[in-house]
Amino acid sequence: MSVAEFFPISPTRCRALHCGHYFQQRYLTEKKSDETEGGTRSLALLIGSHEHKVLEIYTKSLLEAKQSGDSEVFDLCFKAVWNEQDLLPEPLYEQVRTGLLSFVENNPIDPDTLWRAEEKMSLDWDLKVVPWESEEVFIRGILDKVDVVGGVKAVITDYKHFLPSESKLRHSYQTKIYPFLLACLPEAHYLETFDVVYHSIQTNRKVRFSCTKTEALSYESQLRHLSKRVARKVANPDYVWKAFPGENCPYCSFVCPLMEHGVPIIRNLEDATTQATQLYAYEREVSRLRQTLGSYLGSTGEKTDIGAGVYIVNESTFFKGLRADRVIEICKEEGLEINKLLKINTDALKKIGSKLKKRITEGGVETTVKRLKFEKKNVEGEGGEES
Ligand code: SF4
Repeated sequence: MSVAEFFPISPTRCRALHCGHYFQQRYLTEKKSDETEGGTRSLALLIGSHEHKVLEIYTKSLLEAKQSGDSEVFDLCFKAVWNEQDLLPEPLYEQVRTGLLSFVENNPIDPDTLWRAEEKMSLDWDLKVVPWESEEVFIRGILDKVDVVGGVKAVITDYKHFLPSESKLRHSYQTKIYPFLLACLPEAHYLETFDVVYHSIQTNRKVRFSCTKTEALSYESQLRHLSKRVARKVANPDYVWKAFPGENCPYCSFVCPLMEHGVPIIRNLEDATTQATQLYAYEREVSRLRQTLGSYLGSTGEKTDIGAGVYIVNESTFFKGLRADRVIEICKEEGLEINKLLKINTDALKKIGSKLKKRITEGGVETTVKRLKFEKKNVEGEGGEES
């Protein structure tokens, strides 16, 4: 198989694929290496990256010395990593050090089971081990810590500052790539089961997934297909790498095409605060409109004079699932004034009604919530009713 027919994948690259634009900028346009962090900006991410580096050299030192822990070695490692960087603010030194020290004290290494630390593994298309930077690499990954328990079980620990949800981790390619790499390693042929443990440095919480060697090896076709799919997209000059907001945004330092369209992107604490403030203002507005609507409607069956005649608010099947809060939301989305709706703007009602029916049909949802219909009460000189 020629190299051009597949694209090298790794846990980092798989994560990058969540946003096409980010992936393209990072791996196809600008940077080629997994070693670069791609312009980490948030403080929490900088701390996470620092913690990771300290744990890497600390664990390696303990592995060499066959020790379970050593606070002096930890301090040396911490200082060395801190001195190499100039992004973290100095006043945070003690806070970060104390937090990480507490983590390592609570999680001593077991020198009898620890097998590898920061183990880089890379395989070519024939699943042969190749150098990390080789052009033949099909799949690769760095395993933070591997313990071998009972001679046949590998426990692969992946340190994380933030721990994503269990379901996200369960379905992530990372959870498949680690055991697959290890299961393919000739020198680890004796391993029969694999645990992938995601361990939060911040909270000390762990999430564990287990698989047998047969299961680990069965991920091969899925990973090969992924690699080929990505290669096909890379080779297609017309393929559009679309931006998609999500977990990559905090790492992303590229110009985001979505910002031109007013899509809110949360990349750091400042963005999050701005969005939260706007959301709070929106919720207050919704609450105000709901109150206004409530005061117009009264309760079902009541007669209401809204200035354009007397109307009765009745339950109806006309607007399936239409609740007061949905009325407000849809009015906001459609740019309709809620007061006009209440004055029985028939066109507006029809428009809303058809949109709502469509949404309900598409979503396949039937609700049993209170349904509303506005009926014009017979007023002198006017026959019939409006709804
Ligand atoms: S900010 Fe987010 S959505 Fe925009 S390009 Fe970066 S990762 Fe993609």
